[in-house]
Amino acid sequence: MTTTAKVATRIMSGMRPTGRLHIGHYFGALINWLDFQEKYDSYFSIVDWHALTTKYQASREIPDNVREIALDWLAVGIDPERATVYVQSAVPEIAELHLLLSMITPQNWVEREPTLKDMVRMLAADEKEARDRATYGLLGYPVLMSADILAFRGSLVPVGKDQQSHLEFARDVARRFNTIYGVDYFPEPQPKFTATPLLKGVDGQKMGKSYGNDIKLADTEEDTLKKIKQAVTDRTRIARSDPGHTDLCEVPWPMYQIFGKEITARVKEECESAGIGCVDCKARLGGIINEFLGPIRERRQKLAADPDKVRQILEYGNAKARAEAKKTLSEALEIMGMIRWRY
Ligand code: SF4
Repeated sequence: MTTTAKVATRIMSGMRPTGRLHIGHYFGALINWLDFQEKYDSYFSIVDWHALTTKYQASREIPDNVREIALDWLAVGIDPERATVYVQSAVPEIAELHLLLSMITPQNWVEREPTLKDMVRMLAADEKEARDRATYGLLGYPVLMSADILAFRGSLVPVGKDQQSHLEFARDVARRFNTIYGVDYFPEPQPKFTATPLLKGVDGQKMGKSYGNDIKLADTEEDTLKKIKQAVTDRTRIARSDPGHTDLCEVPWPMYQIFGKEITARVKEECESAGIGCVDCKARLGGIINEFLGPIRERRQKLAADPDKVRQILEYGNAKARAEAKKTLSEALEIMGMIRWRY
């Protein structure tokens, strides 16, 4: 057990298990989680029910993806002794709380959610498909997310600027529960804004697991070098002797930024004086990424070879999370005067 002193603040965050994680997940979220687990009472959830909201036709893939994401988390250093690491569906109390919260959530609140409309538009090819995609479960996504946070009475939630509306939703639901039942029970979760570097996929588009343009934590060194080789650079630089423009370099330059000032200063000088060509510059970047990911990949391989250990770690976290969610659910039921029906 850790002896690290933590403040009482509880932070809650989760990821959908839709495939292996990439460096964008690491530098955009997991790097912050490593800090949170030292400072806060941290709850990290693999939100497999959320994956179902859009991937219900591929539900059989979800358990394998849960395992993959758990391997990624543990390999980067998420520590089950410092944080509660669990699988959403292993805590059925979240589903019951979701049901209770759905009863008090006005319909027009879920319908006005901007991210929901974006999701449907992104997933559907036409109007007919959009209607098919917009399931009851997807519509209730923000209520389920509220239950995820409120089940643990989380007071902090890390969010990017584009995810603020979901947190606002959870705050509104918490406030509505407290107002209806005349209590001050659920804390209104506060946003924890974190600096998120914008890493594009090697093709210059948004980095995504399903676009085949990402560098996965679990990729081999060879795959990483091959992918980086394809990265879009400064499109105006035609010949090797042309000076490059780092501000126009679409992929390698932003990636270099995450590895510190010293290397970025060197790249800038070499690029803008035509001291280095893009081929060599990308090869060096690939080497830096491989060096950084080396220990993570080694730990991941060891863990992957020991599935019992991963299962035990998740069972341990599930039990911890379940005990806490059970307590919240029974208190919420008691506040609502529903407890007498539970045996
Ligand atoms: Fe980008 Fe490097 Fe090419 Fe400059 S030399 S444009 S930083 S890849």
